[in-house]
Amino acid sequence: MQPQKSLLSHPGLFTYCPRRSHSGCRQAQIHWHRSDPSSQWIKVIDVESGKIVGAACWHIYETNPYSVTSDEECNWWPTGEARNIANALMGQFLVPRMTYMNKPHVFLDICFTHPTYRRRGVGNMLMEWGVQKAEEKNLESYIDATEIGRELYSKWGFVEGRQRPWMHVVCFFVDGLAELERTKSLLEASQSHIQARASSAPVRMRVILVLTRPTAVYETDPVEVLRTVRGVTSPDQEALSVIDLRGRHQLSGPALFAPLQRQVLDELQLSRTKRLQQGLLFSAAHQAFLWHRSLPGLLHSAAHRVDCLLLSRERLPVSGAFSEGLTELLVQSRTLKCPIQEIYSFMASALLMDAYPPGMHQFRPDHVFDTLYRDLCARAWRAVGDPDGSGHSDAIRSYFAEQFRRLSPVHTSRAIRQDELIRFGRQWSALTLPTACVFCLGRWAEHQTPCRHGICDTCVTMLGQRARGVEYHRDLAQCPLCQGALQLTVRQLPPAKRPVVLALDGGGIRGMVTLGLLRALEQRLAGAITLPEIPDLTAGTSVGSVIGTDQVYNNTSAAEACRRFPDLAQCIFQPAYSLSRIWPWLGCVLNLVRDGAYDSGALERTLQQVCQQGRRVFDVMPPLAAGRRLAIVASRISDGRPVVFPNYRGVRHGSVDLAYQRIVPHGESQNPLLRKALKCSTAAPGIFPSQYLFEIGVLQDGGVRANNPHGIAQEECRIIWPSAQTHDLLISVGTGYVPPAEEGTDSAQHGCSSLQDKAPFRLWRAYNSSPCMDGVEAFKEGLNHVVHPLRAHIFRLDHALADLPRLNDVMRVADLAKEPYIVPDELVRAVLATCFFFELDEGPMRTQGQYLCRGSVLCARREPRRILERVLVEFPVAELQTGRGEHLGRLDDDDGCMVCGYYRKVVRFYVASLDEEISIMFKGSSGQQPIGGFPATVRQFLHLQQSDAVFGRSDHQIDQWPPQRMCYYPRGVKRVRFAEPAPSRKKRRV
Ligand SMILES: [Zn+2]
Ligand SMILES: [Zn+2]
Ligand SMILES: [Zn+2]
Repeated sequence: MQPQKSLLSHPGLFTYCPRRSHSGCRQAQIHWHRSDPSSQWIKVIDVESGKIVGAACWHIYETNPYSVTSDEECNWWPTGEARNIANALMGQFLVPRMTYMNKPHVFLDICFTHPTYRRRGVGNMLMEWGVQKAEEKNLESYIDATEIGRELYSKWGFVEGRQRPWMHVVCFFVDGLAELERTKSLLEASQSHIQARASSAPVRMRVILVLTRPTAVYETDPVEVLRTVRGVTSPDQEALSVIDLRGRHQLSGPALFAPLQRQVLDELQLSRTKRLQQGLLFSAAHQAFLWHRSLPGLLHSAAHRVDCLLLSRERLPVSGAFSEGLTELLVQSRTLKCPIQEIYSFMASALLMDAYPPGMHQFRPDHVFDTLYRDLCARAWRAVGDPDGSGHSDAIRSYFAEQFRRLSPVHTSRAIRQDELIRFGRQWSALTLPTACVFCLGRWAEHQTPCRHGICDTCVTMLGQRARGVEYHRDLAQCPLCQGALQLTVRQLPPAKRPVVLALDGGGIRGMVTLGLLRALEQRLAGAITLPEIPDLTAGTSVGSVIGTDQVYNNTSAAEACRRFPDLAQCIFQPAYSLSRIWPWLGCVLNLVRDGAYDSGALERTLQQVCQQGRRVFDVMPPLAAGRRLAIVASRISDGRPVVFPNYRGVRHGSVDLAYQRIVPHGESQNPLLRKALKCSTAAPGIFPSQYLFEIGVLQDGGVRANNPHGIAQEECRIIWPSAQTHDLLISVGTGYVPPAEEGTDSAQHGCSSLQDKAPFRLWRAYNSSPCMDGVEAFKEGLNHVVHPLRAHIFRLDHALADLPRLNDVMRVADLAKEPYIVPDELVRAVLATCFFFELDEGPMRTQGQYLCRGSVLCARREPRRILERVLVEFPVAELQTGRGEHLGRLDDDDGCMVCGYYRKVVRFYVASLDEEISIMFKGSSGQQPIGGFPATVRQFLHLQQSDAVFGRSDHQIDQWPPQRMCYYPRGVKRVRFAEPAPSRKKRRV
């Protein structure tokens, strides 16, 4: 197949500067040619005179020239207004090129023939060269053409870009047969249409044929000539009209054109009405977006259909989870004996909320329903054994359409859904869904309310309130379904920030080392932020999972956990057989025979202190803790495959192929008790018996396969926060190690017991030092798979010991507690810096060849002022800097609010390109550290902050772009008065 050739017509825009000399232009051309390796000038010479009679500049781009944003500027214009206009005009060329020529291609930039040599084949020679190159290299070719060259280019197979379907009314002024034929071919070349969805009727542009020249005679009726063009006339004949001005030339200007004016106005009105009926009359913002996105398709196909509905949903994909959510709702409603009409209406309002976020175009509800939701509904009914779902789908559609009619700017789809939730909840508050969010039915529940209604993060944002005193935390004070009072604060990861991860190794009583290290970290932070507040995700194996659970669920500080650990260890490691106390080696033998030396009852009783009675893995979180994720790592005894119990579901679950098994409960029976999951994770072979979990299998200590869970933690991050790609900070904490130099001690132990030299024991020791059991080895191995720049965001905390105590050697706990634990300064600085993140406050502005970016540095944790104080200690003379070392201002010189503690530092900086990777750092005399979310490009920020969501956002937020920044006291709330004199610093509200 021949590569595509496309012609882009434009009305002939030129930006030339009158003040520039001829030689200046020549020099610029020479400079452009020499500085661009893709530029190829070819010339045609008259062999008789030796004169150049024509030339062309072809560009052969073997790679995508627009992979990096072009920053061409009309620098030949004097700066100021004139250059801005010239730049804007240049943009008219460049922006579309960046959209549909962003691939390797051949491009004809300039082509001309001396006027006296025209019509003698010069142009053909110039064309032949480029077309041949394109065919040799199998590249698509493009020309930005004006009217003059059209004939030549189409002869060489260039097909015109069809940008016409977006025109409402088009007038062709025809002054004879030749022009009539030309009009016909133009119309034939553009058979593209826009439509609301693939099967809906398209709207066409309306054509007015204006016959102008008084002397022109047409042998056949001009209308008949055009009627042969399919698509202009049929099926709506009235799309073509003729205005004959031939007999009116003796009239004055306005009178001459009066019929045309009337016709144009009529046609415009008709076109608007028609588009309105079809749901295809767009606002300017929507139109601009759709036009831009439809260009590539229009360019590449003669009869392209632009599916506007599809394009509008580009950033709002309909979740596949709807079919599960609807199915779960059907199953539950049957057990509740809820009438089917109630269910139709309940489903319809959930779909309406998904279909029409604020900012969405008012597509016709029947089009929207049939395109996006009909199949999902039918599938749900099929899943519950009703093969014919179409009747039900029709019923839901009529509710959907009825609710659509109630939509207005004040009565949004969310308000309609909320009304519906209240109405439904009054009678059917017992409705709970096993996995889906009951409020939107289209996403997995990530949290649970005490009334056992599962809710997703998006619904928390939509239905909750902004929490006081902290960014990106949401309060839910009332269940939107049953109206019960709640105390749920969900911590969310800011879209432009990445998660902080804590990965805790396993190691029995050596968990004391983990806690010692964490306590050292906590002490260095001096109360600015407590340990449980630091991570967004905690992953733990064995004793690490117990420590993690204690932190996430009980908010236990490291200091407190350190105090309690010795007793805890004592309780856990109560030998099951008293004999083994007397003869330890006998205990060893019993281990091998009986699969566990210790009483698992004691373990279970102890674990119960950590997690309250009856709490399940996926369950209601205690107040203030929701949103902090926990992953407990265990392993299957059959093949040792790691098994992860997450206390969340994750956005991407179900669609990923993992090296481990994730337990995602589908109902109460598969939702194990938290203490059972912990018991699996801690069931070290030979110490505790393995654990059977209903519908999951027999499980044991995760340390068998993944004693260091940092690899799993990184994978889980990508499941929970797919758009974050990676983490801001990963802290992997070990349980002590013996430095390799001390290998000699092995021989000292040699003579201890002859039994210890027997094969099972040697195997046991070898196994203990393999990567699966030895956290240090596993960490090193895991790091091999991490790309280099990311390694700076990973810290390993561990502590060298003279000898490694056994996992169950309770006597050693007290010694371990006394070890001098220290943490590196860089880690302390990284923990503090990653509390902060950056967001753009507006779109970047082009000035003088650069982009000016304005944004804010904000704090994602509670009590920013306290954290800031600590930052000023750890980063003496702290300031903000870009990665290139530009000063962005002092850290404490912010624009926040001293009354409520809101922190906001407004920063501005320049970037050369939107794709330039940048960082914002805290810099002090002690060192520097990037804040959360960096390095990143400005384009990434624009994407993450959804600056391009012209059709609305799935969370229905309308104050997010450009962001409206507010201090923590919402408007209308009376601010707290200080009894003492208010802080001396200026008070400002933002
Ligand atoms: Zn939801
Ligand atoms: Zn509820
Ligand atoms: Zn304030």
